[in-house]
Amino acid sequence: MSTGADRWRGVIAIDGPAASGKSTLARRLAQELGLAWLDTGGFYRAAALAALRAGADLEDEERAVEVVRRRMVSQEGSRILLDGEDVETEIRTPRVTEAASKVALLPGVRRIMVQMQRGWVEERGGSAVVEGRDIGSVVFPDAPVKVYLTAQSDERTRRRLAELGDAREPSAVQESLARRDRTDATRTASPMRRMPDAVEIDTTTLSPDQAVERVLGLVRATRLAR
Ligand code: C5P
Repeated sequence: MSTGADRWRGVIAIDGPAASGKSTLARRLAQELGLAWLDTGGFYRAAALAALRAGADLEDEERAVEVVRRRMVSQEGSRILLDGEDVETEIRTPRVTEAASKVALLPGVRRIMVQMQRGWVEERGGSAVVEGRDIGSVVFPDAPVKVYLTAQSDERTRRRLAELGDAREPSAVQESLARRDRTDATRTASPMRRMPDAVEIDTTTLSPDQAVERVLGLVRATRLAR
């Protein structure tokens, strides 16, 4: 399915709340289909890191835009780059995580991020698995396959704790996920939401393999209908 003339063309959009399994799914799908994988959350994290390093007030849109517009965010393999520097480890810290959710509220910052994300996919011939919160609604509204991934809060907390090496207090992690989701879903600029043409997949009781299979099924059906 991944080689030659029958290679999948176009964007596969994966949206959904924090720790719903987007990265695991997107990464594996990309592997299966021989496509690039783009983690747009990493872009907002890198933008937040740039703003923090510049000592910018994260609520000052003009200042944040001034900082971010002079930076280049990109992804190489599974690493996020900020002006060519590998910042993958630094952007996963709780401080940057909270800051990312704040800069993501600013329409001016979002415009810059969306432009970079579209450019990144364009450079790869317009085909990629792209995960985030506004991919099917704003970044690639014409994506032929759109998935909205969910999972129950307890399960999402369990997964995030496993990623963090169980080093943090479960209730604090659950509260942080809930707070970020609330902020993402209620903001005015590109709120996180399921588009009417997105297929919702609840991964609470699904293994990663099962989730991948479900989306590959959608991809096959879309190819047949083209
Ligand atoms: O996906 P991840 O949790 O790494 O994203 C970090 C933050 O970036 C999210 O909390 C969200 O506020 C923001 N984000 C966004 N739009 C996207 C991807 C992420 O607003 N497409």
